[in-house]
Amino acid sequence: MTETKALLQKYEIVPNKALGQNFLVNAAVADRIVKEATIEGKNVLEIGPGLGALTKRLAHTAKSVVAVEIDEKMANVIRNELPAVTLIHEDFLDTDIDGLFDGERFSVAANLPYYVTTPISLKLLCCADRIDSMTLMLQKEAGQRFFEKEGSKKYGPLTVLAKRSCAIKKIADLSPSDYYPMPDVDSVVVHLECKKEVKDNQKMMHLLNCAFSMRRKTLVNNLMAMNLTREEAENILEKASLPKTVRAEAVDIDGFERLLSVLY
Ligand code: SAM
Repeated sequence: MTETKALLQKYEIVPNKALGQNFLVNAAVADRIVKEATIEGKNVLEIGPGLGALTKRLAHTAKSVVAVEIDEKMANVIRNELPAVTLIHEDFLDTDIDGLFDGERFSVAANLPYYVTTPISLKLLCCADRIDSMTLMLQKEAGQRFFEKEGSKKYGPLTVLAKRSCAIKKIADLSPSDYYPMPDVDSVVVHLECKKEVKDNQKMMHLLNCAFSMRRKTLVNNLMAMNLTREEAENILEKASLPKTVRAEAVDIDGFERLLSVLY
């Protein structure tokens, strides 16, 4: 806490709530995340380094660290305090992941900004074939979405993409007092170990976006948005051994795998 406040004072920064700037102040949690991330000798991507609470630990252990930060004030802190870290000042949603680490594999560690957790997670999952693991701190409800089962209202593209690509485990529950300023919500740390054989996540993402586009519609109706006639969509479902009237939220991971292989 003292260090965070000292840095905020030194750089005359007021945390920006709109950018999800709740800084991790529990050193034991930061140490645990770095330990669970198993990044010794690896390339590590951090999204939103903020004042560097995780970054400095990652830099100490990893082979190389690239940190992507949207806020120029935070970017300036990292450049000054942690010159060994490669800082990219931009919105991570605009980052060209293919261009990072000369195409080498990498791991991810991040305390994700609450307002943009889902798009960031989906973007990372789309290139899970290049990622060894992701250790993410996120809002409790957002973390829960990785563990949902088919049939639940929160089961969706994030759940399916994460489960097909990774072995997922919860590492820790965090409370608002682990952050400064304190958020209004509880948080969790999850670790996603990416499966080596993952492929076609971009295609799966496209399929999932269509399949879940209107949750109350049947899968056939949603698939018709992929330029398919009703008859074609029904045939695809039949070949994938899925009922004609099924909704996307009732289809399990294997069902989506069958659908993907029939479609492509
Ligand atoms: N890693 C630091 C820590 O644990 O104390 C800060 C975490 S804070 C929850 C989230 C950080 O993400 C902030 O520094 C914020 O400016 C940054 N951020 C917010 N939106 C971003 C985006 N779209 N791309 C990159 N960084 C972003």
